[in-house]
Amino acid sequence: MILRDRTAIVTGASSGIGRGIAIELAREGANVVVADVQETPKQGKWHDTDVTTPTAEECTILGAKSMYVEADTSSEDAMRRLVDTTVETHGGVDILVSNAGIHIPGGSQDLSVEEWDRVIGVNLRGVYLGTRFAVPHLMKSKTGRIINIASVQAFAGGGGPAYAPAKAGVVNLTHDTAVEVAKHGITVNAVCPGYIETPMQDYNTQEIIDVCRERTPLPRLGLPKDIGRACVFLASDDAEWITGAALPVDGGWLASIF
Ligand code: NAD
Repeated sequence: MILRDRTAIVTGASSGIGRGIAIELAREGANVVVADVQETPKQGKWHDTDVTTPTAEECTILGAKSMYVEADTSSEDAMRRLVDTTVETHGGVDILVSNAGIHIPGGSQDLSVEEWDRVIGVNLRGVYLGTRFAVPHLMKSKTGRIINIASVQAFAGGGGPAYAPAKAGVVNLTHDTAVEVAKHGITVNAVCPGYIETPMQDYNTQEIIDVCRERTPLPRLGLPKDIGRACVFLASDDAEWITGAALPVDGGWLASIF
């Protein structure tokens, strides 16, 4: 249990990747604060079709101290409260995983301006707000870690006018924060998932999922656990001199030109 007694906040942790991250951190002994806009796990059309147990309950079954806190990452007040509640309950914060994200399909002529603002608000502003409120507490930890969940979409076009630019922003925010807080011994890294089997994929057709499978060099699509184990590593002592990295966890997606 390499994260015993460390306290982690994971945003968007009720479903999908965030749930996978929370469960792997709990398996390694961390106290896990599950932050989300809904406690009930999302059931996807293609993936996670039968998930029902709330994440905090799963973490508790694994022996972790875990609780759910309702928090919309785009809200300044909610993110301040989330960090305050975590500190009141556990005495500090050692690990912040900014994972919450939404995807609204459509190009520049389909998305409304309000939808564009919403995607940037949750996916990019939310990462900034988490960072802003957690850093003063991470400075008091001997093992302060920020892990931001970006995407392979950060590095190319085709991911829509809000989602992909938000993810590119998350990668740059990761670099910037890494430089700013390095003197306090806090590391800041991004994980860039490829196609992961979660309810977020509901908007895709079976044909598009098949194309993603073909486009992924390793012989399967990704699972939330794949991202969870990468986060365990980045949160661990083994990664104490890694900062400012944007780590693809994508089955080889970014390595291939096709
Ligand atoms: P998901 O839709 O399956 O789950 C997202 C979770 O975030 C849900 O529990 C949802 O309720 C919560 N959430 C939504 N808006 C929120 C808000 N404003 N505040 C707090 N919580 C909120 O999505 P996922 O696939 O698990 O994606 C998680 C992260 O990984 C996202 O940032 C996404 O962009 C990124 N990502 C996913 C994939 C993939 O293939 N699934 C690939 C690359 C990156």
